[in-house]
Amino acid sequence: MIKNPVPWPNAARCAVAFTFDMDADSILHLAHHSSADTRVAALSMLRYGPEVAVPRLVDLYARFGMRQTFFLPAWCMERYPAAVETILKGGHEISHHGYLHEHPNACEPDQEAYWFQRACGVIERMTGQRPRGFRAPSYRFSRATLDILVGEGLLYDASLMGDDIPYLLDNGRGQVVELPTHYAMDDWPHFMASRDLAYLMPPRSPQQAMEVYQAEFDAMWEYGGLWIAVWHPFLSGRLARCVAIAKLIEYMHSKGRVWFATLEEIAAHVRRAVADGAWTPRIDRLPYYEGPIPELGRTTPTLAQ
Ligand SMILES: [Zn+2]
Repeated sequence: MIKNPVPWPNAARCAVAFTFDMDADSILHLAHHSSADTRVAALSMLRYGPEVAVPRLVDLYARFGMRQTFFLPAWCMERYPAAVETILKGGHEISHHGYLHEHPNACEPDQEAYWFQRACGVIERMTGQRPRGFRAPSYRFSRATLDILVGEGLLYDASLMGDDIPYLLDNGRGQVVELPTHYAMDDWPHFMASRDLAYLMPPRSPQQAMEVYQAEFDAMWEYGGLWIAVWHPFLSGRLARCVAIAKLIEYMHSKGRVWFATLEEIAAHVRRAVADGAWTPRIDRLPYYEGPIPELGRTTPTLAQ
């Protein structure tokens, strides 16, 4: 089912990373800049992430002896330094997730580079290390993003969805390791409901969401894949969902031979395996297109709504 599985450390059947994107209220300021301060209930829902959920999640990881990766917009780090301290004290990785959750593919390349570097400065100052990885806010990886990642010397990206296992992104001048995931592994479609952010889908029960994550895990375990959850503290850190996460971790432990790791550790392992000749990755050359495809001409005909 997977043509070229990665040789995981200690003959593990799969690699597992629970990654949390601590967006807090950055997304509300981005969506409603002039009125976010008046949307107090939405602010409280989003602040639940750094204030309540992050300490709970770090405790949960400590219970299982796990170190994991958190993606934080740098503005959220400045705004919620206690959450940063809690994450770092737990031994976890803090990774790049934009400055204010701005969408790279909505920026001009120089704007994108400006926000990227501004966020790097905050991460370096608050964690003592440059970021090793990046996840584009809302998966909005741009045609220029890889150039920035290569230029800034990042080890990995975790924004794309092109495989079940790691692969390399190449821009002709350098490469980064891509650690892919997909929408079923995101908690947004399962749990997000907010009138202010224009999501009013019925929230799934924790068990329904876990059924999806567990099916993904069972397949990755069977065939040697990479399981990366893209969760948000204000959604999955809610109490009943956290209880279900603990049960999922127990289930993974009961199956055994699972490598729980940070994304930095997984990317470093991939780099080593490639350098040693132990594994040959698939390589995606980016950007996929230099512009709109020429077949439709310069003006967009109305072929579909
Ligand atoms: Zn995010």
